[in-house]
Amino acid sequence: MAVKAILWDVDGTLLDFAAAEKAAVQKLFIEFGLGECTDGMVARYSSISGGYWKRLERGEITKAEVLVGRYRDFFSELGIDPALAEPFNARYQVALGDTVAYRDDSLEIVKALHGRVKQYVVSNGTVIAQTKKLERSHLGEWMDGIFLSEQLGAEKPSPRFFEQVFAALPDIPKEDMLIVGDSLTSDMQGGLNAGVPTCWYNPQSLPRPADMAIAFEIQNLQQIYELL
Ligand SMILES: [Mg+2]
Repeated sequence: MAVKAILWDVDGTLLDFAAAEKAAVQKLFIEFGLGECTDGMVARYSSISGGYWKRLERGEITKAEVLVGRYRDFFSELGIDPALAEPFNARYQVALGDTVAYRDDSLEIVKALHGRVKQYVVSNGTVIAQTKKLERSHLGEWMDGIFLSEQLGAEKPSPRFFEQVFAALPDIPKEDMLIVGDSLTSDMQGGLNAGVPTCWYNPQSLPRPADMAIAFEIQNLQQIYELL
């Protein structure tokens, strides 16, 4: 296979999502007068939020339900007024882009690959958060296109997400694409559903599920060069 296009996941792949999430939640707790949000509280929020995203990937709930529902649950556990969930999330989408932390040296890699292969963002993140992140991180400057689920009306791993990517890139056969991402349920399953070769970014060396025909696995983004 000759890779002509890389479909990059952003959160947890090119950018360190956990760092941005923690900084944003802690900052907004202060801003909203809710006191200190400890690391343990952030971990609990992250777990609740992760559960909501998985339900979105399975098509059980809408993006809007994810964004507000996770904070409603989290605030209820803490005895905070759940009515704050909506304004808090609105501020959170903006604040998420304030902390730019790269995974490995992703910016250098994306720059080095520019002109060598086409590169596209494929993300389920919100338009507000992803636009700011891609701009502030400068990753967006090196991309040949950006596909956000909110604009496509379908989330990874739905084939409907990828069908729109294919339609926008009629000159690139899907067999010559490579989706690179950290999520088994959205990126790898999405690639498998749509017939796009898959590369699992697995920096923690988690066990690989036996029932998923993942084509490649890397622990460091630098290993992407070996696949091209
Ligand atoms: Mg990810």
